Amino acid sequence: MKKDGHTHTRLSHHGSQEPLDLYLERAIELGFTDYVVTEHAPLPESFLATYAGPRSQDDDSAMLASELVAYKEEVARVKEKYGEKIRIHQGFEVDYLPGYEAETQAFLQENADWIDEIVLSVHFLENDYGLIGPIDYDPDQLKRFFSTGLQDPQALFNKYLTAVQQSIDFDTGLSTPVRIGHITLIRKFQKYFDFPGFDQENQQKITAILTSILEKGYELDVNAAGLRKEFCGESYPNSTILHQAVDLQVPMTYGSDAHEVADLGLVYNELSAIINEKQ
Ligand SMILES: [Zn+2]
Ligand SMILES: [Zn+2]
Repeated sequence: MKKDGHTHTRLSHHGSQEPLDLYLERAIELGFTDYVVTEHAPLPESFLATYAGPRSQDDDSAMLASELVAYKEEVARVKEKYGEKIRIHQGFEVDYLPGYEAETQAFLQENADWIDEIVLSVHFLENDYGLIGPIDYDPDQLKRFFSTGLQDPQALFNKYLTAVQQSIDFDTGLSTPVRIGHITLIRKFQKYFDFPGFDQENQQKITAILTSILEKGYELDVNAAGLRKEFCGESYPNSTILHQAVDLQVPMTYGSDAHEVADLGLVYNELSAIINEKQ
């Protein structure tokens, strides 16, 4: 099996407009046998009503609720077209948003019959003033919302890792497979801000996260996206943490997190070599 467990479509609004057909054709060409379409699920209405971060028509964070039907139709169409060449799995990348758990659960319940797999991710954190900001948008937004955190990067890492831990503890209400997305996304702009490595306390949080993923029967998203970001330069999480996850026998799945066709398959061989290492 050669699987990509984390991919996007034009409906993410912050990637390419290429049709899903081209993604599937490329994945088939690269020899993938399994492909999970995990577009960002619509964000809860009450969250969007208070969200103070950047939003514009071509620069949104997720599909709109009004696009849900089109998304499902699109996935059904490519399954029909390419289903004999590649197994296409139906999914979402779902935001874990502290304080919006009930709405997230309601969304998952409403779509339970459709969902094969989900990637559960943290992209937003509350700042010191109670505003929710995006941690992965660009360095300026990170500065705008988390200026105090940037003075104390370990505290900012701690805040992110705490939210990731909460996402694992969150009850999805579903029995479908869950992968915890890019657990070190907070390092996306690490070169820009010259972030230090994780201190001992944060390393312990990461160990706890890996252990919880294992105990919960979840998987770790081995996410290639950081390697193509100019200010990151490593996978989420990096190879040191991946080796630790291997030692702990945490189930892992490669995810290109492709937002354009050219992203597919990035460093698949290198990351899957780590994933498949025996301790
Ligand atoms: Zn994500
Ligand atoms: Zn993603």
